[in-house]
Amino acid sequence: MNQTCVALDLETTGLEPKIDEIIEIGAVKFRGDEVIDTFNSLINPRRTVPYRIHLMCGIEQSQLDSSPVFEELAEHLNSFIDGCPIVGHNVSFDLGFLAQKGIMPANAIYDTWELATILLFQQPDYSLSSLAKKLGLSPPQHRALPDAMAAKELLLALFERSLQLDITTIEELIRLSETADWETGRFFREVLKLKAKTAFSPGGGTLTPEGKKEVSLWEKDAGPTLTARAERASLDIEKLSAILEPDGILAQALSGYEHRPGQVHMMQAVAQALNNNEHLIVEAGTGTGKSIAYLLPSTFFAMENSVHLVISTNTINLQEQLIGKDIPDLLRALALGQAPSIKNLRVIQLKGRANYLCLKKYEAMRASSRLSIDEAKLLARITVWLQSTQTGDRAELNLSGSETAAWNKLCAEFDERFGMQCPHRQRDTCFLYRARFAAENAHLIVVNHALLLSVMTPETGVLPHYDHLIIDEAHHLEDEATDQLSSKITQWDLFNYLNQFRNEPGGGLSTGLLHWLDESLRGSTAALSRKRQLKQLGESLDSHIDKAQLHLTTFLDRIRDFVEKQTPDQGDYDRNLLLTWDKRTQPGWSRVETSWEDLNLVLRDIADDLDRVYIALDELEDSTISGYEHLILELSYLFSRSNELRQQIDSLVSQPESDSIYWLSINSQNDSVELSIAPLRVGRVLRDSLFSSKDCVILTGATLSTENHFEYIKDRLGLENINEVLLGTPFDYPGSTMIYLPADIPDPGDARYQQALSDMLTELCRTCRGHTLVLFTSHAALRATQAAIQAPLEQEGILVMGQGVDGSPKQLIAAFKANPESVLLGTASLWEGIDVVGDVLSVLVITRLPFNVPTEPIFAARCKLFDDPFNEYGLPQAAIRFKQGFGRLIRSKDDRGALIIFDKRLQTKRYGPVFLDSIPPCTIVRGSSKELPSAVVKWLEREHN
Ligand code: SF4
Repeated sequence: MNQTCVALDLETTGLEPKIDEIIEIGAVKFRGDEVIDTFNSLINPRRTVPYRIHLMCGIEQSQLDSSPVFEELAEHLNSFIDGCPIVGHNVSFDLGFLAQKGIMPANAIYDTWELATILLFQQPDYSLSSLAKKLGLSPPQHRALPDAMAAKELLLALFERSLQLDITTIEELIRLSETADWETGRFFREVLKLKAKTAFSPGGGTLTPEGKKEVSLWEKDAGPTLTARAERASLDIEKLSAILEPDGILAQALSGYEHRPGQVHMMQAVAQALNNNEHLIVEAGTGTGKSIAYLLPSTFFAMENSVHLVISTNTINLQEQLIGKDIPDLLRALALGQAPSIKNLRVIQLKGRANYLCLKKYEAMRASSRLSIDEAKLLARITVWLQSTQTGDRAELNLSGSETAAWNKLCAEFDERFGMQCPHRQRDTCFLYRARFAAENAHLIVVNHALLLSVMTPETGVLPHYDHLIIDEAHHLEDEATDQLSSKITQWDLFNYLNQFRNEPGGGLSTGLLHWLDESLRGSTAALSRKRQLKQLGESLDSHIDKAQLHLTTFLDRIRDFVEKQTPDQGDYDRNLLLTWDKRTQPGWSRVETSWEDLNLVLRDIADDLDRVYIALDELEDSTISGYEHLILELSYLFSRSNELRQQIDSLVSQPESDSIYWLSINSQNDSVELSIAPLRVGRVLRDSLFSSKDCVILTGATLSTENHFEYIKDRLGLENINEVLLGTPFDYPGSTMIYLPADIPDPGDARYQQALSDMLTELCRTCRGHTLVLFTSHAALRATQAAIQAPLEQEGILVMGQGVDGSPKQLIAAFKANPESVLLGTASLWEGIDVVGDVLSVLVITRLPFNVPTEPIFAARCKLFDDPFNEYGLPQAAIRFKQGFGRLIRSKDDRGALIIFDKRLQTKRYGPVFLDSIPPCTIVRGSSKELPSAVVKWLEREHN
């Protein structure tokens, strides 16, 4: 690279330029490999640096207090940067802080994060440290100068990599950047300059994913289409059991294999259910090895009978574990043993349509002369990625939030009109159809619950016909079914929809359909009469959009007015109003209804106009209008969206159904009005659309029962005539787990509760030196606790991190594992989304029993279905949640831990024993809060017996 550039990195007190301060600046001036000069200084922020920042970068407060303030260095920094292109990883963050200090260089910007997302695909994350590790560069150190050096090295590595692209691709990247006025084009122009000089050198053309992708056993050969055996072959359960024996095939092939009686029991139950065409529910606690227990019989059953067997999971983690580890391990072991024919087993992971790139839409968007920056960036990434992807699956791209919106216009979803007679379908290059074809040939098809349950929605036909199904993580099935059948429309969705007709070029969006239509017609060679017709339709749309905006404002005002009159102010919480029949008779509702009628009429007019424009354009020759296909695509999208919005709002306001839940909300964060719909019960739908049509459905998970029976989950999921197996745990809970119940704590409703919780946690975490996960049922309680315990604990070198305050769950779990002298405060997803083996997590605190909020609309509406809603619905639901939280503590047979339940209701209420009866028996200790820390330390230090 022949340009002189400046790589820049800042360390700061936090993430917000308006609130936080710079504490260190590092910059490197370089040309190719040669470092010309460096700039490095600590900056006095005139404030105390948060402990976690000190921990991360190791800068002492005393060092900063004696350093210059930013203003003393500004001029020097400005002249150091001069006119050089500025290089940095996610450099807009650093530039935002400099802008706050009045430094706004107009230099070219080379963002290594952005370039890496284009040039390196299939990366789980694009942090500077991950990329440096991947490419063998110097590791960043959370200090400004070393990180600026790392950004410099990364830029040079990316430049080298981009030289491998062919000239046509580089030109395409430049063209895309110019279409959207996107800064990164300047980098590719530099690449092109050098590339042009070496155009006749050998090499170049295609980028391949970083690292060698392991060849899966099932990727070698798609094989013939499956034809089920006429006569069903039964599994030999004795033979399968022998495979799991201490001296069986798996023990010989897999290092660390353990014989587990619970696993054998489950495998036999699964095999029996498959042989007998029965449904089965199995609870298998952590450590049972349930994946192998169902994979072993499933594999042989699908192979020997030549049938599809579908395995559905809720989380990506489990799908990846099945596809990337458990199935390959099992197949390798079986192939080494006595079942060489198992090599012919074919496995595929199948996803919903929205996950696959639609090539026709990609081509249409590429041909457009109007692209937003997000669209241009995504097209650039796809252009490079298409050279090597076999699947067209968005997971390989690891899309950011803003890219997801652009992806929605490119995925293989909506509008069949667009896909009719598609050449990609005919040429067999369509990713979606290739995935479907592969599924037709596969024995095991791994899906997620969302795709599995798409049988309940219009997205049908993705899965081939199958009769055998295994549902892992089955406790999520009710929520996933609820999600599939639910919808939410916010006021921003509605305004954004109307804005898509009017956005002018340069407004950051490619839409602005009216302007675009007008522009396209001006350059078109279509007949004058057709142009006139389209112009009139455009004018009609224009006037309908004006009317729709007025009616929408009235409609939203009336909803807001109605909700405010019907609900008390909730402070920091959303105002939710369940739309019962009773509420629909209240004063003010008829005003909402009439305003909807007005809005609905004009939205229908808009949809009619769009349809007429579509028909008129469809009759024109493509070549007469620039970006014709993209325009058609946009029209289709707006037309479908209009109908979808109308249908959903109409059902909520005017056509409510007795089996649906409707509610209105005012969002406390942004004051937005929201309209929501959810199914009242999903059990019947699941029974009719899924369970009753299959020969054999096996549901499994670690938390399906309450008080040692399955009645609750069976009722929720509509399960009938089903065999049950409830396996114990392979872990020695009485020997490994102490449950401490403090006797002297206030009730959670008592005003003294929060103070008592904070005092207890401070002492406990100080004594245990962190190693603690604290689970909350509300963000407000989490924040209040963090505010109280953070300073005293951090003074003692114990880091306190809060979910939703200090980062995403993934980032916080990684930080917790890296520094066990930490306290992690979590809500929602951390009740089941954290798996930390060993003594990093030795103490678990459950602050309150996890009852649902009684006013949560879906819960409140479903409660009305029960004679005794608390005991029949609320209590079992909370017990399952409690069991999930409890499961975070002991993750292997060598783990040891203490659980503190800081909710007195467990000890005083009649229902308290339900929670303890839902988990395995542990050693229970009752004592005072004062004795708690020493009791925990004593327990953790005791030898595992
Ligand atoms: S067949 Fe349908 S999904 Fe596939 S490329 Fe064509 S339009 Fe897109």
